[in-house]
Amino acid sequence: MHAAIVTLFPELFASFLSTSLVGRAISCGLLHVHLEELRRHGLGKHLSVDDTPYGGGSGMVMRVDCVVQAMEAAAAALHATVPLHRILLTPQGTPFAQTVAERFARCEALLLVCGRYEGFDERVRHFVDEEVSLGDFVMTGGEVAAMAVLEACVRLLPGVLGNEASAREESFSDAQGRLLEYPQFTRPHEFRGLAVPEVLRSGDHARIRAWRHERTLERTRERRADLLRRSDEAKS
Ligand code: SAH
Repeated sequence: MHAAIVTLFPELFASFLSTSLVGRAISCGLLHVHLEELRRHGLGKHLSVDDTPYGGGSGMVMRVDCVVQAMEAAAAALHATVPLHRILLTPQGTPFAQTVAERFARCEALLLVCGRYEGFDERVRHFVDEEVSLGDFVMTGGEVAAMAVLEACVRLLPGVLGNEASAREESFSDAQGRLLEYPQFTRPHEFRGLAVPEVLRSGDHARIRAWRHERTLERTRERRADLLRRSDEAKS
């Protein structure tokens, strides 16, 4: 997968891109990342990429000309053979979810555009394919959102986690019925009076499977009944 990130703060990505799974995906050649520093496309003595809002109001807005130039430079630098899927990180976008990560992971090339200040000049929206939000809260910039999107996608790339993504059972996965994962335990088998459920130590795989299935349903019912409703709708 190719990913280009447009940002005012490329330095925020240094340890993220060199650590753990994402770092490994890059060193194995499964992921190529280009960081496009927005400041390089700034204007005037201070290389400004923001300006005051038309109509007045507090804060600064990111200029469409600087952002689009940076996006085009990033696309050119990536040398991708397919058109980039262009994603704007904004709290006003579609809420990010596992199904969205699965769709992005199938794209060969992503462009992630991170905002700052009061956000983007509205016209930037004409130059992207979709807008994604990390959730109903406001951060200072899109960088953390871009990292979250990239990390969720990278772990789905074939070869990155070792076993095939489609077969993985984890919260929100297709293999898990898009529900929450069952509780997991490891050694020690008892800690301060808290014991591992006997069934998990029984070696009886059919019983373990049934227990896990029940816990998945119970946990999802308790914490995220909305997921159960959605899964029923998908089946009917
Ligand atoms: N004034 C805007 C918020 C700007 S926050 C509004 O009211 O909608 C500044 C930048 O941080 C945004 O342009 C975006 O890139 C990023 N950002 C903040 N919260 C985000 C979220 N929940 N999801 C994705 N990006 C977010």
